[in-house]
Amino acid sequence: MHNAMSSPPAVTEAGQILESVFGYSQFRGRQAEIIEHVINGGDALVLMPTGGGKSLCYQIPALVRSGVAVVISPLIALMTDQVSALRQQGVRAAALNSSLPAETRAETERALQAGTIDLLYVAPERLLNSDLMHRLSAIDVALFAIDEAHCVSQWGHDFRPEYQQLGAIGERFPHVPRLALTATADQRTREEIRSGLLPDDAASFVSSFDRPNIRYEVGLKERPREQLLAFIRSRHAGESGIVYCMSRRATEQIADWLNTRGIPALAYHAGLEQTLRAHHQARFLREEGLVMVATVAFGMGIDKPDVRFVAHLDLPKTLEAYYQETGRAGRDGLPADAWLVYGLQDIYRIRQMGAESSAGEGHKRREKQRLEALLGFCETHECRRPTLLGHFGEHYAGRCEYCDNCQSPPRTWDAADPARRLLSCVYRTGQRFGAAHVIDVLLGQDNDRIRQRGHDQLSTFAIGTDLSRSTWQSVIRQLLAHGYLEPDPEGHGGLRLNDACRPLLRGEQGLELREDLPAQRPQSRARVAASDVAMAPDTWAALRAQRRRLAETEGVPPYVIFHDATLL
Ligand code: ADP
Ligand code: MG
Repeated sequence: MHNAMSSPPAVTEAGQILESVFGYSQFRGRQAEIIEHVINGGDALVLMPTGGGKSLCYQIPALVRSGVAVVISPLIALMTDQVSALRQQGVRAAALNSSLPAETRAETERALQAGTIDLLYVAPERLLNSDLMHRLSAIDVALFAIDEAHCVSQWGHDFRPEYQQLGAIGERFPHVPRLALTATADQRTREEIRSGLLPDDAASFVSSFDRPNIRYEVGLKERPREQLLAFIRSRHAGESGIVYCMSRRATEQIADWLNTRGIPALAYHAGLEQTLRAHHQARFLREEGLVMVATVAFGMGIDKPDVRFVAHLDLPKTLEAYYQETGRAGRDGLPADAWLVYGLQDIYRIRQMGAESSAGEGHKRREKQRLEALLGFCETHECRRPTLLGHFGEHYAGRCEYCDNCQSPPRTWDAADPARRLLSCVYRTGQRFGAAHVIDVLLGQDNDRIRQRGHDQLSTFAIGTDLSRSTWQSVIRQLLAHGYLEPDPEGHGGLRLNDACRPLLRGEQGLELREDLPAQRPQSRARVAASDVAMAPDTWAALRAQRRRLAETEGVPPYVIFHDATLL
């Protein structure tokens, strides 16, 4: 009652519809504002995270305003779901798309003419390439809603060329309100949506992109399958989840493997036969406790409220993609996990893809920024939310006290000296070899490969025996992530120095690295266990003696020999 007295009539009516049709008692976030704006004839860009409640922003105005609301949606499955849900709620909704039989289409077109449809869902090509525009010109149109509006962007992986022609709506229907809705938040995409789909004076409604119920956790990839299995068993037994992998083959292998371990799983990728793919998707949506192991082909429009986790076994392409993919967890607002593991190989691979890309300089620079953002998020020692949301231009103050880093703050260690030794070792071995070989040399290994490559002399210095192999791997991974090291241009898995490492080598800059494995922090060099260097104790003793002799005759500490003036 209080509302009825203080709110304008449009809002009161909207509030009543919210309750009577949709069964909800309150608007969420900025829904009320957006709905009022549209009811009053305004155009709008609506940015809201997945699960935020974008649909009501056009569904309620559709029922308040006179005429039919036209909703442009990129996926037939998405349309079908929404239309059947609306019909169950007693809303006069229909869809027009290529999958429908001719009679159904004719029937819908008649109903449209008769003015008995409130919401019409259409695919963009249907709207553009049929006489539908013409028919609509003859009737009352309440609004146009362009859902998943980021499909207009050529740079995203959901690009739909037809979306770029939707600007035509404004020319044909200049007085009908238009909404563009998306959960993709990056600035560039926003601008593309505004310029391609909306009039200049359209209002922007940007909601917070924080998903407070999602717990972000990023770990080191060691034995990914076992790690995944342990994660599912310990935290999500019997629950629904999505596991993203890079390759199609991996999705099938991992799904099979999970099944043999008693976790019901299905694979999904673009190479699966159409009906099988649809069948897997339908089962995932319908059944409880199924794990979908998928490539990025699986996702857009997956409106399953109770996905309890999204796991990544490979790094996603960008931080945006990560946000979108993890956003499919916990749409019901209940706690959900976003779990990712990655390792040295992943960073190497994506750094290399960036370097190889044949795109123009501007594009490359943007790609590089995107990559830095993703790696920054993975490697951060701090609360993950400010990094993630900051990427979308949102300021997150303080710590969430919920992500992995807040719950168990990672320790850092002063890695400047080991990093210098490692960088000089990379340099001394010719900037052509991969992590394994460089670490062999650091650890003073003596094997065929080292001898073949003429690095046995270098190896006898054994300048890195104070740290274990896995710690060196961690150092290399982080140096790659921070851009001190980079893949060699030949692409044979080698590492080389990046100019960015000079201040570090010159001692002008320090380096704190994240401690991945607390047990293996360097303590004192004397305390290195033989097992850490994987070498027989007597070989090790002999090497050490040799190294000491060399150091004495050269008159310098062993690792300084590696500090090469030409490097600086
Ligand atoms: P989006 O399109 O932004 O991803 P949806 O419109 O599909 O999100 O809404 C996500 C879920 O939230 C749906 O189940 C929807 O019914 C629910 N929802 C939306 N608005 C409200 C509200 N005001 N109160 C309660 N639930 C809501
Ligand atoms: Mg939606």
